[in-house]
Amino acid sequence: MRVAIIGSGPAGFYTAYRLMSKIPDSIVDLYEQLPVPFGLARFGVAPDHPEVKNCQDKFEEVAESPNFNYIGNVRVGHDVQLSSLKAHYDAMIFSYGASEDKKLGIPGEDLHGVFSAREFVGWYNGLPQFQNLAPDLEAGDRAVVIGQGNVALDVARILLTPVDKLRHTDITEQALEYLSRSRIRQVRVVGRRGPLQAAFTVKEARELMNIENVSFEPIDPSFYPTDIKKLPRIQKRIAEVLLKGPKNPPTHASKSWALDFLKSPISFNPSPSTNNLTSITLSHQTFAPTADPLSKSASVVPTNETSTLPTSLAFRSVGYKSTALPGLSDLGVPFDTKLGIIPNDPYGRVVSPSKGPGDLAAAHVPGFYCAGWVKRGPTGVIASTMEDAFISADVVASDWESGVPFLNSAPGGEGKSTGLGWEGVREEVLGNGVRALGWSDWKRIDEVERERGGKLGKEREKFGSVDEMLGALDG
Ligand code: FAD
Repeated sequence: MRVAIIGSGPAGFYTAYRLMSKIPDSIVDLYEQLPVPFGLARFGVAPDHPEVKNCQDKFEEVAESPNFNYIGNVRVGHDVQLSSLKAHYDAMIFSYGASEDKKLGIPGEDLHGVFSAREFVGWYNGLPQFQNLAPDLEAGDRAVVIGQGNVALDVARILLTPVDKLRHTDITEQALEYLSRSRIRQVRVVGRRGPLQAAFTVKEARELMNIENVSFEPIDPSFYPTDIKKLPRIQKRIAEVLLKGPKNPPTHASKSWALDFLKSPISFNPSPSTNNLTSITLSHQTFAPTADPLSKSASVVPTNETSTLPTSLAFRSVGYKSTALPGLSDLGVPFDTKLGIIPNDPYGRVVSPSKGPGDLAAAHVPGFYCAGWVKRGPTGVIASTMEDAFISADVVASDWESGVPFLNSAPGGEGKSTGLGWEGVREEVLGNGVRALGWSDWKRIDEVERERGGKLGKEREKFGSVDEMLGALDG
C-alpha cells in the first residue's frame, strides 16, 4: 500500500505512525510545504511550553522507519498537482491543518496595529511567512486580545512575561528584541460571553495569573453561583483560579492583565489623521432571556450599551481556518467552506454528501481520508489530534484489509496505482524548479539551528526564511 499524507503536523505524523504499524508493508510519503516539519508543534505551541513539543521525539522516531519518506519544501496543489499524485498512490490522507484565520468582519480590521493571533504567534515562533510582521510594541502601553481561548492567553502571556524568562526558550531572537523594547503594561482579554463559557483551560489561566510582578483585575464574582463547588469539575477549577487571583499578589506590579466578559468588538478605530489603531469600540452583551448563564453553551445578545477601550495594539484570536487545496474538487473531494473542513464520516473517510445523500458508505470518495484540524476543524490539542489521527489510520487499514475500492481501483480509475509514489511525480516537481528535501536535509537544518541556539544559550535559533533554511544545506 502506497500512501500520500499531506501535511507534516501532529496529525500527519501520528497517522503515518499508526498506519505503518497496522499495515507493516505500507509505504508512506509525507508531503510538507515548508522545508521543516511538525506544523503547529513547531510554529504554534508557545516557546515557554517546551514539554508540549516532546511529541517531536516520537515523530523523529517515526521518520526513522525505512517505509517512511519525508518530502519537504513541496507545496501540494502548487508545486505538485493533486491530480498528478493520484495515479501513484492507493490512498491520500489530508492533514494539512488550518493555515488561515477567521475574521471578525468589522470596520478597521486592517488598521496598523491590528493583528491576528495567528500572525503574532507565527512571528514569535519563527514562521517564515510572518517574519516581517514588525508589531509595534512601543506605540502605547496597552494591548487588547479579542477572544478567550488558549491561543489568546498564549498571546497575553508572551506580552507580559519578563523577557529574561523567555531568553532560553526557542522564541526567535527578533521577537526577544522587540519584546525587550516593549512598552506594553496592560493586556485586556475580551470575550463575548462569561467566564463559564470561556474556552481557555485552567493551566493557561494559572500560568498567566502567576507571572511575577503582574497583577490581575479581579473578576465580578456574580458570574458564578455562590457555591462554586457545584460547578462541573473543569469550570470549578478555572473559577478557583480566577476568583483567587495571583498566588503571590505583587505589591508593586509593573504590569497587569484583565478578562473582560460579555463584550464584543464592533469596530477598530484609527486616529483621525493616520491609519493607526487608537481604540476599539465594544458592544456590551447580556445572556439571552432563554439561556442558562451557568451553562457552557449559554448564548448572548447585544444590549444598547457600548464602550471604548483605548489601545494601539489589538490581536484577533477568534480561531484558525482551513481552506480547500487547489485541485481538490477536480478529484471529487468536496470542501465545506462554512465549517472549514473536508467533509468526512466519523472515522475520517472523505465523503461527498451529493454522492450518497443519507448513506455515508455510498458517499465515501474512494481512497481519500483526512485527519487533524482539516478533519475536525481547528480545535483540540496535540493529544486529541493524536487520538483522532489514530482513528483515521485505523479506518484506512481496515478498508484496505476489507478490499473496498481505493484511489485507482475505484470505478473510473486506472485499475491499480503505479505504486511509484513520490518517484512518479519527482521529475514534474523538480522540473518546476522546486528543491524537494528529504529527512536527512531536515536533520541538517535541525543541527544548524541547534548550533546557532547553543551559542545563545537556547535550544535552537530557528531560521526565519525558507532561503536561510535551504542555505544551511549548502553552507
Ligand atoms: P498543523 O499542526 O497545522 O499541521 C499542518 C501541516 O500541513 C503544517 O506543517 C503545514 O505547513 C502543512 N501544509 C499545509 N498546507 C500544505 C500543502 N498545501 N502542502 C503540504 N503541506 C501543507 N496543543 C497542545 O497540545 N498544547 C499546546 O500548548 C498547544 N498550543 C497551541 C498554540 C497555538 C497558537 C495553536 C494554533 C495550537 C496549539 N495547540 C496546542 C494545538 C496543536 O498545535 C494542534 O492540535 C495540532 O498542531 C493540529 O495538528 P494538524 O496536524 O492537524 O495541523
